[in-house]
This record gives sequence, C-alpha cells and structure tokens, in this order.
Amino acid sequence: MIVQNFNFKSPDYSKILSKLQESKVQLNFKRNSISVSINIFTVLTFDLRGFLIYGIVDGITFKRGLGNRFLKLFRENGEKLRFDLTKSEKSNLLEFVKEVTNFAFKKPTETNNHESFTEIELKEFEQKIISKKISDYDSLQETYDAIYSPIMILPPDQYLALVVQMTIGCSYNKCSFCSFYKDVKFQLKPFEEVRNHTLALKNFLGNSIGLRKSIFLGDANSLLAPTPYLVKLLDFLNKEFKFDKKKFNGIYAFIDNFTQNLKTVEDYQELERRNFKRAYIGFETGSQNVLRLLNKPGTPQIAKDVVNRLKESGISVGVILMTGVGGKKYFSEHVEESAKVINEMNLDKNDIIYFSEFVSYGIQNYLDLLKEEKIEDNSPEDAKIQTEEIKSRLFPNWQEKPRMTKYEIKEFIY
Ligand code: SF4
Repeated sequence: MIVQNFNFKSPDYSKILSKLQESKVQLNFKRNSISVSINIFTVLTFDLRGFLIYGIVDGITFKRGLGNRFLKLFRENGEKLRFDLTKSEKSNLLEFVKEVTNFAFKKPTETNNHESFTEIELKEFEQKIISKKISDYDSLQETYDAIYSPIMILPPDQYLALVVQMTIGCSYNKCSFCSFYKDVKFQLKPFEEVRNHTLALKNFLGNSIGLRKSIFLGDANSLLAPTPYLVKLLDFLNKEFKFDKKKFNGIYAFIDNFTQNLKTVEDYQELERRNFKRAYIGFETGSQNVLRLLNKPGTPQIAKDVVNRLKESGISVGVILMTGVGGKKYFSEHVEESAKVINEMNLDKNDIIYFSEFVSYGIQNYLDLLKEEKIEDNSPEDAKIQTEEIKSRLFPNWQEKPRMTKYEIKEFIY
C-alpha cells in the first residue's frame, strides 16, 4: 500500500499570482475584518490590525490562532485533515499574501461596503496589511506566549471567545482518558494576576478584539473558585468589556461535577446577574460503572443536580457526553443510563448536548483499566452507534429540546 504524506499538500501560489492581472479582485469591508478575494475562490481575511486570520487558497483552508500558529485544513479521499504549518509553509503563505494584497489594494475590480470607513481609515488599513512582515507575525507569538499558558480545549461554540485564564490546568487531573494537563500544576491565580492578564490581553488584541464574541474563563474547572472571588472577577470583567448583541454576548466556563456540591442556586444567581451565560459540564456518562473506568470522580446524580441548580439560577448548560466508552460490557448500560439521567435534567432550547465520540487509541490509562476488568474495547463504529442510540432515547415529547451536536475538536486552534 502506498502511504501518501498529505502534510506536504500546498497551494500552487505561483499559478494564482501569474493570473492576477486578469483576475477579478474584490475588497470586502466588514465591521471587524477586511477580506480580499480573487475570482471568488481565493479569499484572505485580515483583522483590523492587518494580520491574516483566515484564508482559502487553492482548495486549502488556513486558520491562524491568536499567536503565530497556523493550521491548514483540507479534504482527502473524503476525510477532513488538518496540520500545523511548518516555518517554511508559513513564510510561503505570507509572501503570497503580501503580493496579493499589494496588487488588490492598488487595482481592486470591486469594493464592497467601504463607505462604512473614512478614506483615512481605508488608507490606514491598506498600509497595515501590506506593510506586515513575517517578523511581525513572529512577535505576535512572543506576546501570546507571555500572556497565556497553552489553551488545550474550548467548547466548540466558544472558539471565538476571548479566554481569560483565571486557573491553570485541572484541579483533579486523573481521568483515565484525559492527558490535557498531565504535566501542569493546578493553580487558581490571585485576582490581581488575572486582572493584569486581562489588561495585557486587551492591549495585545487592540482593535482586533471586535472579532471575539464572548469571554471564556479558562482552564478546566474554573468555577471551583469561591463565589466571592468569581463575583469580584465578573464585576471587573463587566467594567472592562461591553456586553451586548454587537460586542460580547456573555461569560462562559467549564464546570466539574465534583467541586460544585457547596455552590447553591443563590451562588449561581450571583454569577447570572453578572452576564455569566453558560457552564459546560463533562458529564461523560450516566453509568457509575463507566464513570469508574473513566476514573472520574463524582456521580451522574451529582452532575444532574449541578445542572438543575444552574438551570434554576437562569444559567444555561452545555452537557458533554462521551460515546464509545465503557467497552462492550457496559455498551447498553451506558446508553440506557445516560439517556435516563439526561432526561431528568431540566434542559430547554438554550442548552446544548454535546456528543464526544471517543477513540481509545493510545489512551493507555483507560486501556489498562479495561484490561484489568477483562473488558473488550468498543470500536469507533460502536461510538457512532451509541451516539445514535442515546439520541433516539432523549427528550421524548419535549416541547423545547436542547440543541444536540458533535463535540468536534479537530479544528480547534486558539
Ligand atoms: S476533570 Fe476534565 S480536565 Fe480534569 S482530568 Fe478529568 S477530563 Fe481532564
């Protein structure tokens, strides 16, 4: 069998550049970004500081995180693939961007919505975009690294959040399926540190902050902080950021099901009054046996109680459920118990159920626990079947069903 290395798939930049003169070049201005498109098929989008944030070139999609990390995404044989760009790939892309924008601003065939900007602003954007050097992108990475510890994961609907890292890592860090924070010492930062971190973030993003849609309190289980701490932090965030439809739509965070027993509906109401909108809980399973194999503390009942207390306070939830866990032995129990407990949660159309299809490949701690109990592992296909079986059991005759979607992290970049 020939194994192709698709990592080396790259756009044919020179072909696009050689035809620029006869191409249709459009400049599109939006409130928080500017795009250049060539014959519709090549699109380059920039933030208001002139940095590339997104591109489609020759069928390959490029995404830049807040630092200088770029991903390329494309389909091959029907499969979605993604790779980090190498240094030379980044440099090729940015050289291409420079040539295209130089041409586009001088000879656009069409401009859209430029009337929302003054002539001076337009000139400034042009200058910012075409004057960017590779070293400017490199310096983004240096500042980013000084502000953030690695951000391992966000809920899929929070990829455009502004992450305020009030904790580092996970306070538990022993689930058998999770290696996100393996070598990271858990830390709840002192308030002053989070305040300075937030101000540094605002400064770092400048006017590109308009691309961020919400605020996310990182990392894994930040709501374990005492309520007075959270209240003080939310008050500060409400002072620093504007929350409305056009700016930030609210504050969000992960929550766990093992430190929340002490928090009351009144505690959560304090947060809700301060624009806290949704908590994401790693529920994983309704089966205590499967939870044991995941080595996750708490119980499905506690998770349900936490969810219902949050809902009573007016806060929405994202319930994350894993499928494919528990092996063949607990296949049916996982399906039945998970559906049962979720159906006992007081969810509505503002909530989200995430289905995270688990693949055990290389997850040694989890595989060891299966082996100890002589349980045969599920296949990726089993995970898909479980997703459908659980879905079919959820919300019989409910008026206001929560949204159900996949917990897909392949395209995550921050
Ligand atoms: S609680 Fe969450 S972040 Fe912490 S180890 Fe478990 S899965 Fe990972």
